[in-house]
Amino acid sequence: MQERLSFAEGIELLTHAPLEELQLRAQLIRNQKNPPNRVTFVLDSNPNYTNVCNVDCSFCAFYRHPGAKDSYTKSVEEVMEHFERAHQAGLTTVLLQGGVNPLLKLDYYVELVKTARERYPHIHPHFFSAVELWQCARSSHITVDEVLKALWEAGLRSLPGGGAEILSERIRLAISPKKMEPGSWIDIHQRAHALGYRSTATMMYGHLEEPHDIVTHLETLRVAQDKCPGFTCFVPWSYKPERTALRRKVRHWAGKDAYFRILSFARIYLDNFDHIGASWFGEGKDIGMQSLHYGADDFGGTLLEENVHRATNWINKTDHNQMLEMIRKAGFEPAQRDTFYNIIRLYTPDEHVHVPHAGQVSEPDCLPSYLQSTTCCPTQCAQTH
Ligand code: SF4
Repeated sequence: MQERLSFAEGIELLTHAPLEELQLRAQLIRNQKNPPNRVTFVLDSNPNYTNVCNVDCSFCAFYRHPGAKDSYTKSVEEVMEHFERAHQAGLTTVLLQGGVNPLLKLDYYVELVKTARERYPHIHPHFFSAVELWQCARSSHITVDEVLKALWEAGLRSLPGGGAEILSERIRLAISPKKMEPGSWIDIHQRAHALGYRSTATMMYGHLEEPHDIVTHLETLRVAQDKCPGFTCFVPWSYKPERTALRRKVRHWAGKDAYFRILSFARIYLDNFDHIGASWFGEGKDIGMQSLHYGADDFGGTLLEENVHRATNWINKTDHNQMLEMIRKAGFEPAQRDTFYNIIRLYTPDEHVHVPHAGQVSEPDCLPSYLQSTTCCPTQCAQTH
């Protein structure tokens, strides 16, 4: 076992260690914690129930203010149409998130979970990031614990880790000053873990952060995982600048070496996390495949639907067979997992699968109008140009 890195050692390693050294150390740990030849993935979809939001994050091109012409909030029945497509495509997980919509209250969220569990018991609901739960508590005049308990009773068992960005007050003030404080993000995840939920942890880097902000983020996660374990995986991704207001303030874009560095460093620093997630989606397929050699053991989901990155014109698609192909091409054996990272399917070498519903959804079915065009919509241009 390697000794735990201190904060100061972390800064030193992240800032000065050659990438090859980080990679070697990360791969050693990865192979101690997970089967060396195996890379896991999940068959999932990532639809949204609302784009209404009043938080105005400067890195976000997805949201619309309440009452905006192209804002939307889906009824429970409309969200179930996404579940039906997920069911037709043979998916096992639906990751559902939305904007921070001040008009929605607890009964809406409970109804979403209950209806999904009743109609699609074979699909795992991985719903609502911490800031959505925080807003739900405020709008419903109850505590976050009460929200979490009500959703647990309705059948929710895991939360996505979105909305963390960089858990540093300095960075929050610079990129999303209206968002809840970093302490609230970690507090909500810890409360959820205490109730039995599992959740992922994420980080969006490549904007205004410095190395000490990244180490602060990872240190916060590591301390929380020590106190109240429940994080299944850590998944970093880079900021996507297109159509966002923040792009004017960012001087250096994070490239693939930054991604490999952060993945490797996270694997070394987060010694109490079992899984580190790389992504074919967030960084592109080629870089994604390469990144599996930098400490990651998971390749994320197939993402039948995805609208948040798409709003920044970052569009990437795959399906079950392509996922198998990418993992094999990178030199590993693919294994399908569930949301809790249990293995649910292994494949014979070269096995191809039957994809029940072509694996993709036509755009008009799943996207609001402003996401169906590759040109900026007037509202977004007004915000960003
Ligand atoms: S990132 Fe989330 S909270 Fe921030 S503006 Fe976009 S939808 Fe709202």
